Amino acid sequence: MNPSLTEEIKQEVDKRRTFAIISHPDAGKTTLTEKLLLFGGAIRLAGSVKARKASRHATSDWMEIEKQRGISVTSSVMQFDYLGHRVNILDTPGHQDFSEDTFRTLTAADSAVMLIDVAKGVEAQTIKLFQVCRKRGIPIFTFINKLDREGKSPFDLMEELEQVLGIRSVPMNWPIGMGRELCGVYDRMKSQVELFQGNDHSTIEVKKVGDYNDPIIREMAGDYLTDQLISDLELLDVAGDPFDYEKVQAGELTPIFFGSAVNNFGVQTFLENFLQLAPKPTPRNSLSGPVDPTGEKFSGYVFKIQANMNPAHRDRIAFLRICSGRFERGMSVRHVRGKKDIKLSQPQQFLAQDRDIVETAYPGDIIGLFDPGIFRIGDSLSQGSEIVFDELPTFSPEIFAKVTVKNALKHKQYQKGLDQLTEEGTIQVFYSTGNFDETILGVVGHLQFEVFEHRMKAEYGVDILLHRMTFQFARWIIDDKLDPSKFRINSTLVKDKKDNYVVLFENEYAMRTAIDKNPTAKFLETAP
Ligand code: GDP
Repeated sequence: MNPSLTEEIKQEVDKRRTFAIISHPDAGKTTLTEKLLLFGGAIRLAGSVKARKASRHATSDWMEIEKQRGISVTSSVMQFDYLGHRVNILDTPGHQDFSEDTFRTLTAADSAVMLIDVAKGVEAQTIKLFQVCRKRGIPIFTFINKLDREGKSPFDLMEELEQVLGIRSVPMNWPIGMGRELCGVYDRMKSQVELFQGNDHSTIEVKKVGDYNDPIIREMAGDYLTDQLISDLELLDVAGDPFDYEKVQAGELTPIFFGSAVNNFGVQTFLENFLQLAPKPTPRNSLSGPVDPTGEKFSGYVFKIQANMNPAHRDRIAFLRICSGRFERGMSVRHVRGKKDIKLSQPQQFLAQDRDIVETAYPGDIIGLFDPGIFRIGDSLSQGSEIVFDELPTFSPEIFAKVTVKNALKHKQYQKGLDQLTEEGTIQVFYSTGNFDETILGVVGHLQFEVFEHRMKAEYGVDILLHRMTFQFARWIIDDKLDPSKFRINSTLVKDKKDNYVVLFENEYAMRTAIDKNPTAKFLETAP
């Protein structure tokens, strides 16, 4: 034990807040992220996050797809300091085709901010991401955005959260008017009003009041909006859930904040409340039990691998969530799966604008490790005893295609590309068990096929053809008396990379029938 190191790690852990923003595309995630970074002084100009997105497009070849479609394929990490906290924002790809990466990124977060467009309410992508957070039991904070536009009533939105997501909510503030009439919000916790000033909503005035009946509000907001506000808040006081810290920490109650990211309205209050309420880095699960972040020995796991950050090299960056101890540049750690010690000499942290070299980092931080091809998603690194983290969910593919290589002479490059791209974890590969030697790819989102095709050509020089198959479900089958002839109608038997048997089904009916007819067999959604 080294008391001063333990104390140092404890202090650093206490300071940290690592979270992800979950939302449907267009809800305003980029805008909100930018405003948060501005408060932290991590960037000087609004627009830089977008600009960075754009410059990444310009320099990166395979991200052309991203550019053409205007979506964000990759995710990154941004860090800033605010009021004594060190904040790590994990940016998550918003497009549904990239949900696996997003899901994995969520395991690196200790809490989530759910961003919702006031007019659109809870949308498809938000539901999926919410469910992953729910399963992990992390606290979820809600920011209702675009209050400067007409939208759903706050009560309707609370009802929607409950009906669609099954989570109760507690408004931390409440809008005074909405859309063109929006004049501010009432902060229920601090009993103060925050008012927009001027037509461009550019300045904000904060006034402390006794409670929502304080005549100051009436003076500022007028009779109509004040009456509405008072009746809303009275109703909330009587019928709403009280604020319950324990329930928030358990992810059973979501605090709601109202605001407008683009006008920078309500963002600072949100940030300050969030930093107070959000958890510091929490223990992560390993095969030998939870790993306490304040432990002296360094440990972490790789949750994402990103290729071609620099198109001039075929390098990859492995993103590692630090789970315990202190990271120091140049330190030697155990690569548990590879059963060897490696030196972490080129770690990079992803600040708002540039890649910086990290000298030290602590639990809750994300570091990018230069990867010459030794890491896989889920790999654990540790100092001292070998820790194997058990955090990453796996996914059952839903879309399948047969692959053929146009030029047979390129088979070696194809194999290499296939190995590397499947290691990154967005594509699963299966082999047919019949007479034909077929390779089948399985993904969760269609866009992954396009990325695969594009990268095969751009990075490995291999032209491939993908033939979509009609299968929709994959189930790993464990059966002592497996009879392949049973899986011919509306289904097929294949093997995964590790020689496990997998049945692909064309529809739910075929799958149900197979499960009923094979009571002794086990059908698993993911690899055993
Ligand atoms: P993302 O896809 O979630 O990253 O969304 P963006 O941050 O790119 O925002 C999508 C669009 O919504 C952009 O045109 C933003 O300017 C706009 N937007 C973001 N926040 C607000 C807001 O508070 N009010 C209004 N009216 N528009 C907003």
